[in-house]
Amino acid sequence: MSDCIFCNLKETLPKEAFVYKDDFCYAINDINPKAKHHILVIPNEHVESLNEVEDTMLIKHLFDAIKKITKEQDIKSFKTLINTGKDAGQEVFHLHIHILAN
Ligand code: AMP
Ligand code: ZN
Repeated sequence: MSDCIFCNLKETLPKEAFVYKDDFCYAINDINPKAKHHILVIPNEHVESLNEVEDTMLIKHLFDAIKKITKEQDIKSFKTLINTGKDAGQEVFHLHIHILAN
């Protein structure tokens, strides 16, 4: 098993824990929510951070997923956040985009 928490969650979480899933990514509720809705959109592929993304189509896929998720959940106003690097507050070194909405 990988020592990456987001690689492991993808394989071990029960079906109902997933907010969204497609061929490129999955989404879950943040375990420590900072807003009423706090969803993490996580690529299936292990990429440490935005700095390590080689094919930026991955970013397009993630934002396409964000549009679907927010539409499905009827979230009209929201913030997206990507922490990149330790000094910017990144704690989990598997790329993810936060969706935050109240
Ligand atoms: P970041 O600081 O951008 O790396 O964000 C990592 C986020 O992952 C934090 O908001 C954590 O609360 C969240 N997190 C860590 N472990 C889990 C988990 N097992 N399930 C859901 N969210 C998690
Ligand atoms: Zn990973």
